[in-house]
Amino acid sequence: SATEEELAAYGVAHITKGIGRSSTMVIERGEGVWLHSVGGRKVFDLTTGIGVTSTGHSHPTVVKAVQEQAARIPHAQVNLVLHKPMIDLISRMQEVMPHSSLDTFFFWNSGAEAVEAALKLARQATKKSNIIVFNGGYHGRTIGTMSLTTSKTVYRTGFGPLMPQVFVAPVPYAHHCSGNICNQPGADNSHCVNWALEQMELLLKMQSAPEDTGAMIIEPVLGEGGYVPMPAEFLQGLRKICDKNGILLVADEVQTGMGRTGKHWAVEHAPVTPDILIFAKGIASGYPLSGIASRRDLMDKQPAGSMGGTYGGNAVACAAALGTLDVFKAENLLGNVAVRSEQFFGSLRSNLPSILAKHDISVDIRGLGLMIGLEFSGPGTKKYKKGIAAEIASTALDKYDMLILTTSVYDTLRLIPPLNITEAETTEALRRLYASLEDVLA
Ligand code: PMP
Repeated sequence: SATEEELAAYGVAHITKGIGRSSTMVIERGEGVWLHSVGGRKVFDLTTGIGVTSTGHSHPTVVKAVQEQAARIPHAQVNLVLHKPMIDLISRMQEVMPHSSLDTFFFWNSGAEAVEAALKLARQATKKSNIIVFNGGYHGRTIGTMSLTTSKTVYRTGFGPLMPQVFVAPVPYAHHCSGNICNQPGADNSHCVNWALEQMELLLKMQSAPEDTGAMIIEPVLGEGGYVPMPAEFLQGLRKICDKNGILLVADEVQTGMGRTGKHWAVEHAPVTPDILIFAKGIASGYPLSGIASRRDLMDKQPAGSMGGTYGGNAVACAAALGTLDVFKAENLLGNVAVRSEQFFGSLRSNLPSILAKHDISVDIRGLGLMIGLEFSGPGTKKYKKGIAAEIASTALDKYDMLILTTSVYDTLRLIPPLNITEAETTEALRRLYASLEDVLA
């Protein structure tokens, strides 16, 4: 049979060059934090497949739920019939919604499709077509969601014309705040937050009038834009502006949702209740399931037949989500996120600055729960090289068998472990990270 190298060469030759890829490993199976390749390589996965396999690879509870549903019926088409896994899932999700007003659901397969669904609902319900998005936001790769995405030009270049009537507002990104005054030790974000809210008020006066503006779509922690948590005061300020102007607040929790930040939903940290909540990724431990939750009075404005899709709310994917929710309870995942988050941040804050100070490099350590970003900088200094984050990631994989992702246009690494990572596994991930960093700086 073919070797891993042969399989990889065939795959690379016959898969579009349009895919950006961290490695050419050919994966055979996964277990918890580990990936196993066809050729027998074992790699620590600090990416969870971009924030998806939050219960670890192939959690037995999820596997069992999937196997049982696959044997019963995988596809009970949503435009034709209802099915029990979806109904059970709605009832279980209602228990964990950030607010009881979010009681009506629509299911899809991918994050982008769910964002599209939110966009459609916002326009139908408000009869207003302008959409406000936030600089550095990522919402997907369809023409519609790409038009909302501003985290990197590569996602939109060459694909125009994009959807019109999208307006981009700035975010309070303290690390890049003017004069860095919000980024000094002990400083709060208030300067940055006030400035960004003022810019939003101006945008509504100068470019996108409230009577034309249907929705604002925001990630409570910028994901592809750099793992930048949006301050509570900013989200609360947006909520007030939306209420005052009859604009819907849409939270894209595709990457931040389902426990990733230490609460079921990242908006709970503010806390703020969105009018539409978008979920995907971690919800179903690797199965394609996404959706939106909203208020019944908004969803009731959708004419029958205006929403749908062949595979949306697939029964096996819903069963995987039910299995995932079982694991959340049985293993107290939110409790685990809290202690492992402390372990990660504690170690990073006590070790990274001293490793880097010798080289005149600084690091912004930020995030929420197990959504951890490390942004390296040090312009004009001796050792800092642009691209250091990517270099650490490739060293981690090549020399220390650990898969780790970069993010954003800045030099940023993101750590996305499974939510059931153990203390020993956390120590091991950090050991491999520090070793990779020391190698790059040597
Ligand atoms: N929104 C956010 C916040 C995301 O992080 C992503 C995926 N990275 C998407 C939407 C799109 O999800 P998908 O890739 O499943 O279409």
